[in-house]
Amino acid sequence: MSEPLLRIEGLSKRFGGFVALDSVDLEVQPGERLGLIGPNGSGKSTLVNCICGTLQNEVGSVRFQGKALDGMSAHERTHIGLARSFQLPRPFASMTLMDNVRIPLIYTVQARAGAQRTLAGLDVRCRELLAMVGLDGKARQWPRDLTQVEMRKLELARAVAAEPKLLIADESMAGLSHSEIDDILALLLRLNEQQGITVILIEHIMSAVMSFSQRLAVLVSGRKIADGEPADVVNDPEVVRAYLGQ
Ligand code: ADP
Ligand code: MG
Repeated sequence: MSEPLLRIEGLSKRFGGFVALDSVDLEVQPGERLGLIGPNGSGKSTLVNCICGTLQNEVGSVRFQGKALDGMSAHERTHIGLARSFQLPRPFASMTLMDNVRIPLIYTVQARAGAQRTLAGLDVRCRELLAMVGLDGKARQWPRDLTQVEMRKLELARAVAAEPKLLIADESMAGLSHSEIDDILALLLRLNEQQGITVILIEHIMSAVMSFSQRLAVLVSGRKIADGEPADVVNDPEVVRAYLGQ
């Protein structure tokens, strides 16, 4: 088997005496679409935070393309190809949509060797990123002008601006209507199939998870209790008892 893009081994994370993650192992192959599910409070976002460097894990290791990420800042991890969208979108409120995608573009892609774009070139790329999520018509507007689904799309465009190898979408669909969920799903599929971005989808909406995921992992109380073919995982009695049967 090829070198996994992401390899997490024995990762544990405590908050004081509370164990949020308990010796989690997880591998993600290049180009894969992985679904990550589990009850609220099971440690999904904490795992994302440990992968992306918002939190540092004291125990275990996270490797990305074979490289150990221990001690690397979130910023450094973005540089080497990790991106995530936040459960609650975090746009720059006082900036237009163009500038909201321009900032991550300048601080990541533009800062990489040999990737210098002119100012006009940056504008073109910002337009492309907004067009990719269907927001090019609102390029000169502000985040406050957006609907909830548009806000989620902007959040994804900002993550993709950094040209990630791995994108983690943390509950990008919560609270959306069926057609809006389909919109976001189609967007994530395009990013995976057309741009080759590996995607971890964290989601409670099981129809979305099942149509998207090539593999499914389940966290319960900070422990990974299942990992495999989606159809097998959702029929696993332990998964049904701990999550799906609720
Ligand atoms: P999920 O994303 O699966 O809903 P989280 O990873 O957000 O779960 O949270 C897992 C557990 O860790 C929860 O009990 C949450 O209250 C706790 N937790 C998360 N972040 C912190 C933090 N910064 N400090 C203390 N406890 C936290
Ligand atoms: Mg969460």
